[in-house]
Amino acid sequence: FIRLRSFSSLVQSKAFIDGNWINAGNNRTFDVINPANGVVVGSVPNMDVNDATQAVKAAKKAFESSEWSKYTAKERSSLLKKWYNLIEQNSDEIAKIMSAESGKPIHEARGEVTYGNAFIEWFAEEARRIYGDIIPSPVKDREIIVLKQPLGVAALITPWNFPMAMITRKAGAALAAGCTIVIKPAEDTPLTALALVKLAEDAGFPDGVINIVTTDKAVPIGELFCKCPDVKGISFTGSTEVGKWLFRNSSDGIKRLSLELGGNAPFIVFNSANLDKAVDAAVSSKFRNCGQTCISANRFFLQEEIHDKFINLLKQKVEALKIGDGSKPDVQIGPLINDMQFNKVHALVEDARSKNAKVIFGGTPLEKVGKLFYSPTIITDVPSTAKLYTEEVFGPVVSVVKFKTEEEVIQAANNSRRGLAGYFFSQNLQQVFRVARLLEVGMVGVNEGLISAAEAPFGGVKESGIGREGSHHGIDEYVEIKYVCMGNL
Ligand code: ADP
Repeated sequence: FIRLRSFSSLVQSKAFIDGNWINAGNNRTFDVINPANGVVVGSVPNMDVNDATQAVKAAKKAFESSEWSKYTAKERSSLLKKWYNLIEQNSDEIAKIMSAESGKPIHEARGEVTYGNAFIEWFAEEARRIYGDIIPSPVKDREIIVLKQPLGVAALITPWNFPMAMITRKAGAALAAGCTIVIKPAEDTPLTALALVKLAEDAGFPDGVINIVTTDKAVPIGELFCKCPDVKGISFTGSTEVGKWLFRNSSDGIKRLSLELGGNAPFIVFNSANLDKAVDAAVSSKFRNCGQTCISANRFFLQEEIHDKFINLLKQKVEALKIGDGSKPDVQIGPLINDMQFNKVHALVEDARSKNAKVIFGGTPLEKVGKLFYSPTIITDVPSTAKLYTEEVFGPVVSVVKFKTEEEVIQAANNSRRGLAGYFFSQNLQQVFRVARLLEVGMVGVNEGLISAAEAPFGGVKESGIGREGSHHGIDEYVEIKYVCMGNL
């Protein structure tokens, strides 16, 4: 803790409500642990529903009565730009904090700061382009006018795998639209979130516009967000189970929900693919953040002609991956985030092994490196009965199935209740269009494994979620459309 504090004044030990840095009302705290070595890197307020209620009240007051509602779009844009500039000036410190609390390799953490900050920049620009419409009326003396107005208080619940970007792509859009926000960051990674809020304070957002509640007991606070009529919208990124829980619990109030949930991304390599490019993309899509991203390739489908060659090339790359403490500059694979993730990954591998899948590489915990480290793993001949085939692994495991025809692979790829991202590699033009249309997902990478950008709409179909983040569509989650009929003109 002392060590992290000593390199960064951005490490906070209090939460932020109504413009004040405060402890939990009950004075409790919880520790933040570096998963690479078990060292405590910080301690933050363990808030409960009373604190969260204060945060919602502050956000409501700021939305209704403060100057915030009178800010012009240009003024909101300027504040977001200031925030963007401060984040950029402090990017190295934020990356270090992020790497220390999430175990993410430092170069990936730096990449996330750039990526995460791109949302603040993008939405600073979009704030000035939230246009309404004037629609030609079918009646002579009428005018049809459409306004876009901010929702009000938005609750933002975020996961640990992208401690910064999952916050900025929600907060940027919400603030651009004119909402006020209550952030509930993941219990594993609150320090990055608090650092961002500190910089937002420095940028000059009015009191109550941005609030953050830290806790390691999310359920009662989730309940408050769902039930409290003052919270007009909830934006959540995390597991499908919790997303469904939020959906159910907020149904009474017909609350606006934006859900980015789990995926089960297919990664299909057709015979015509450029194999070197496909293998490189497989490594970056699968092993980024140790496989702990919701758009990580989860099921690899290799057409039979290229199957063996692809596996050989992939094995060479995987063998060369550097594993270790993410703070070391050349490390590519860090630890899994916590015991639960670790046990899940290991259990999925063991289940596949017991069902006669072939472990080509890895498949073992790496106790010598650290308690939460798991070997990058390649498993082929994974039967459809294996849990690895149907569940999101969220770990460094390549799970491979061989296929013969395009028809067969489309059917297999779509045979999932989830539909977030999908990837395929082909140089056959007709096939590219056909397959891009047929995959039941919200995002498709064609001959590309890294697809995220602030400019592009991120989101899923089926049980992977509702709504889109990033792009100009991202604003829609935080505005109401109001139709004004001007009659008797
Ligand atoms: P994971 O840890 O697998 O990313 P979770 O869905 O458990 O996914 O967590 C994502 C975020 O949701 C975290 O901030 C967590 O604290 C929060 N969370 C978990 N359960 C609830 C709940 N019932 N209500 C509100 N937030 C929750």
